[in-house]
Amino acid sequence: KQTGKNKLITFHPLPTQQRFASQIQMENDLRKAITENQLLLYYQPRLELSTGQISCLEALVRWNHPLHGMIAPADFIPLAEESGLILPLGEWVLREACLQKARWLAENKLDYQVAVNISPCQFQDEDFADKAIHIIQQTGINPSYLEFEITESSIMQNMEKTIAVLDKLCSKGISISIDDFGIGYSSLNYLKEFPIHCLKIDRSFVKNIQNNSNDWAITNAIIHLGHALNIQVVAEGVEDVGQLDILKETTCTTIQGFLLSPPISAYEIEQTFYMNDNR
Ligand code: C2E
Ligand code: CA
Ligand code: CA
Ligand code: CA
Repeated sequence: KQTGKNKLITFHPLPTQQRFASQIQMENDLRKAITENQLLLYYQPRLELSTGQISCLEALVRWNHPLHGMIAPADFIPLAEESGLILPLGEWVLREACLQKARWLAENKLDYQVAVNISPCQFQDEDFADKAIHIIQQTGINPSYLEFEITESSIMQNMEKTIAVLDKLCSKGISISIDDFGIGYSSLNYLKEFPIHCLKIDRSFVKNIQNNSNDWAITNAIIHLGHALNIQVVAEGVEDVGQLDILKETTCTTIQGFLLSPPISAYEIEQTFYMNDNR
C-alpha cells in the first residue's frame, strides 16, 4: 500500500521450509493435511514405444496448503519420513490411487496400471504388505492394476524379509519396480533373487545421454540387462526428441518424462489421454 494504488508486488516465493514458522509447525500442518484433504495426486504417463500406447500412470503426491499454495513432494516427503507421518501419508496415497483407478474403471475410461511410490520407511514397516493389501481390497480394485515403485535402499536391508514381502505382494498380482535404478546400492544379485517386473533408469543418466558417453553406456547396459533378465526397463526424465532417438537406438521399450507429459491432475489425464486412446 505504501508504494501507491493499483500496484501488484510479486514476492519471490520463499523456500518451503522458511514459509513455516518452524519444523514443528510444518509437521502439525502436514498431519492436518493428511486428514483434511489437502493432499492430491498428479499422474504422469508411461509410454510403450512399440505400440505408442500408455501402459501406466505414476501417482505423484502434492500438498495444496491453504496459505502457502502447492508444495512439491521434495519439500515435505523428507519431513514425513523423519516424523513418521510417511505411514499415514503413504496409506492415503495408496488408497487415493486405488479409488481413482476404481473411478476410471467404473466410467469405463483408461485401463492403465497405476504406479505408487513406496518410501523406504513404509517398506520397512512390519505390517506394510498386509496393510497395503487390505487397503487395495477395501477399494475393490484388482491388485494387478497396481505397481509399487521401491528404491534399491528399501530392499537391500534385510534380504530374507524383503523376499517374503515381495512374494506376498506378487502373489496378489501387484507388480514391483525399482525406482531411480543405478544410483543406489549396486548389488545386482537381488535382480535374480527378487520378483521384480521393472527397472526405472534414474533420470540423471538419461539427462546427458546425448553428450556423455558414460551415461550412454550405463543406460545402454541397464536396458540390455533388462532384456536378458526379462525385466521391463523404463527410461525416466525423457525431455527431448534427441534423448528419445538415442534411447530407441539402444532398444529402450518404455519412456516417461516431460517430452510426453509432466505429472498432471486426474482430470487433465482424462482430457489429454482418454480421447487419444485407440485401444
Ligand atoms: P520419483 O519417484 O523419481 O518421481 C519422478 C520425479 O521426476 C517427479 O517429481 C516428476 O515430476 C519428475 N520428472 C518426471 N519427468 C521429468 C522430466 O522429464 N524432467 C525432469 N526434470 N523431471 C521429471 P515430483 O513429482 O516432484 O516427485 C519427486 C519425488 O518425490 C519422487 O521422485 C518421489 O521420490 C517422491 N514422491 C512423489 N510422490 C510420492 C509419494 O506419493 N510417496 C512417496 N513415498 N514419495 C513420493
Ligand atoms: Ca517413482
Ligand atoms: Ca507392468
Ligand atoms: Ca525415479
